[in-house]
Amino acid sequence: MSGCVFCEIIAGRAEASVVHEDGDVVAVMDLNPATVGHVLVMPRVHAAGLAGTDDAAGAAIWRTARRISGALRTSGIPCDGVRWSLADGEAAGQDVLHLHLHVVPRYPGDGVVVTADGKRRSRALLDQDAALIRRSLT
Ligand SMILES: [Zn+2]
Repeated sequence: MSGCVFCEIIAGRAEASVVHEDGDVVAVMDLNPATVGHVLVMPRVHAAGLAGTDDAAGAAIWRTARRISGALRTSGIPCDGVRWSLADGEAAGQDVLHLHLHVVPRYPGDGVVVTADGKRRSRALLDQDAALIRRSLT
């Protein structure tokens, strides 16, 4: 897609440090890493968000991110754990509107802050929430 920086990287027209690429996905180093070793895994075919992908693309992203997570732990880069995150939509914090999964090496004192409100919700409300989601599952 024209104007998409990730499509430019995938096409080889924009600079990137490539970790892995195959017919389904491309994985590159994040230009502004949360920690050293922060990798982005993206589908080769442009999709702004999850709704534009299919299960095969999702499986390819998962497979690659899982392999990279294992590699990070033995790479020599500080990595005692790995955090994945995927923002689907600008309201979720998606910065580049080409779907991508962040694979971030973590270790004690790495300075990364992840926050959530975490207010307890009653079982009755959780059951209602689950029913709403179940109805929309396709
Ligand atoms: Zn794109």
